[in-house]
Amino acid sequence: IPVQAFDLVVIGGTGDLARRKILPALFKRFCAGQMSDDCRLIGAARRDLDAAQYRDFVRDALREFAGELALNEASVAGFCAHVDYVAIDARGDMGWQKLSDLVATGEAQDAVRAFYFSVGPSLFSDIAERLERFGLTDSDSRVVVEKPFGRDLETAQALNAQLAQYFDEGQIYRIDHYLGKETVQNLMAVRFGNMLFEPLWNAQYIDHIQITVAESVGVEGRGEYYERAGAMRDMVQNHLMQLLCLIAMEPPAHFDPDAVRDEKLKVIRALDGVQPHHIVRGQYTASDGALSYREDVGNERSKTESFIALKCHLNNWRWAGTPFYLRTGKRLSHRDSEITVVFKDTPHSIFGPEAGRHRNELTIQLQPNEGITLGVTIKEPGPGGMRLVDVPLDMSFAEALGPAADAPDAYERLIMDVIRGNQTLFMRNDEVEAAWAWTDPIIHGWEARGDAPKPYDAYSAGPDDAALMMRRDGRDWKGLE
Ligand code: NAD
Repeated sequence: IPVQAFDLVVIGGTGDLARRKILPALFKRFCAGQMSDDCRLIGAARRDLDAAQYRDFVRDALREFAGELALNEASVAGFCAHVDYVAIDARGDMGWQKLSDLVATGEAQDAVRAFYFSVGPSLFSDIAERLERFGLTDSDSRVVVEKPFGRDLETAQALNAQLAQYFDEGQIYRIDHYLGKETVQNLMAVRFGNMLFEPLWNAQYIDHIQITVAESVGVEGRGEYYERAGAMRDMVQNHLMQLLCLIAMEPPAHFDPDAVRDEKLKVIRALDGVQPHHIVRGQYTASDGALSYREDVGNERSKTESFIALKCHLNNWRWAGTPFYLRTGKRLSHRDSEITVVFKDTPHSIFGPEAGRHRNELTIQLQPNEGITLGVTIKEPGPGGMRLVDVPLDMSFAEALGPAADAPDAYERLIMDVIRGNQTLFMRNDEVEAAWAWTDPIIHGWEARGDAPKPYDAYSAGPDDAALMMRRDGRDWKGLE
């Protein structure tokens, strides 16, 4: 079903994010029949291109990043017919009147007008001011902004204040692409659409919850940014925090944007501070043909963490006493994002100690494949007595749902939500600020102590101390080996 007609202006339309994510996502929605004939995609960036040259740029991007769909020349040509371009300078006045004229002419009636700020945050304020001054925005226009949203509470507040000068909160879509993943949304469906899980979803029945977001790639040419961010700012403050919120939040009264975001905010506000001995920071060293982190970023003395594992607690009735373990890093043994909910032991084992210890585990796999698995304990088949074994009760979406399980990429979903005006999967100003308010003292703590990250081999499971932290608690990390 096509969404309402729209004009999407991608400011920074020649950048890496546009090439890799935004353009392929729109193209795929076009192929799925969601873009009506009068939709337009207007690239706007510093590069001096005309519309035909930008269409060539779009074609190349699709060939590289849109997979098999881009082999269909007719689809690519059809999509490119919606594409236009204006060269602009975000810090000067060049191009803005032209962009304004282009948007004003030929826009479909009642079209949604959205501006994707695919540029660094230092340009947000300049762009917002020009959008208003050149009459490009009104109270119905929408803006999409990317991470990083600030580098601490102060800078995030400043960014929010800058945007609030020009837009209402209801117009601002802060992207966290993890929230666009089908399985992440499924988390809410599983929790709040079944009677089975929610009664057990608390400290009484759950031993602990762990969230791992592991990447095998290094800093990938983004060394300068990463060196100032590190894993805590780059991943924990946003993506892992959002996953934690969805796992831990109370059921909202309705599935509407503010009801969901109110509940997520309460989770962040309930987070306790983290003890220094519950934090393990790491930095990868050269191994298996990979350069070290320090070589990758060109700083022999870098103390930035490319890995972090931490244990935290929520101060509320549902979760008091249940630890949450978060772990993320680069150059780990493989790409693996998963959430594991480990249930407690049965109160008494009727099978005796030789049956061993068996716990139910619910695993929500986000990357590389999406799916949910519940580990249940059954009798091991055969005549060997009452021996127990854990088997997965596999909720493989692909098998159960067939082609309907082909989840769209997160960006496809999120950009369409912008057009639909649905903010449920976007972070609100107060959520972002609360997340920084929790993150800041942790970072200040290790900076004040002068802690250096622990070295770990590239393509390993991270520093040994992360495994030790778990073992001290009598637990193990799941997934990454
Ligand atoms: P990039 O450097 O590849 O592209 C920046 C774009 O902004 C280019 O189109 C450039 O022409 C334009 N631009 C820069 N200065 C300008 C000016 N003064 N006037 C007009 N246009 C100007 O950056 P990117 O990797 O595409 O990232 C864009 C934003 O998205 C950044 O905030 C980045 O942190 C964020 N982000 C990127 C990725 C990614 O995969 N690349 C992932 C997550 C978030």
